[in-house]
Amino acid sequence: MKKEIAFHWLRRLARERWVAASVVLFAAALVIVLGAVFISRFFCRLLCPLGAFYSLFNRNSLVKLDFIEGNCVHCLACVPACPTGVRPYEERDSRDCILCLKCVDACRFGALNVGLRRQEPAPRKHVVVEPPGRAARSG
Ligand code: SF4
Ligand code: SF4
Repeated sequence: MKKEIAFHWLRRLARERWVAASVVLFAAALVIVLGAVFISRFFCRLLCPLGAFYSLFNRNSLVKLDFIEGNCVHCLACVPACPTGVRPYEERDSRDCILCLKCVDACRFGALNVGLRRQEPAPRKHVVVEPPGRAARSG
């Protein structure tokens, strides 16, 4: 009998829109709080719609993070310095990079720097050059 009464009340509550909305809001808040506890910048990285919008323009900005591979000693000091979870020494031009330059400060070996984004040069067309002797013989 007690079970039936409990189910009856639960069904009635579920029919109320505000109850359903509250449950959804509570669940969303719980996910955000738990995410923030376990994942660094959880909301910014995974849920923020503004961040997703801005990241579309990351690769068109005038400046970018430069990586000088020859200077890198793979000490990994740049990894914990990054607030957005990018691994600067192996992720080039990451959409998550907000150019805070904390990794540049963390790198003692000068492997990271900020630089101007230049347009990639177009690949050169291959021109077949014949050796001088062969050109003279064929003519
Ligand atoms: S801190 Fe500098 S040297 Fe160390 S892994 Fe990162 S880029 Fe390489
Ligand atoms: S500039 Fe900032 S966000 Fe970008 S990789 Fe370095 S520490 Fe991370």
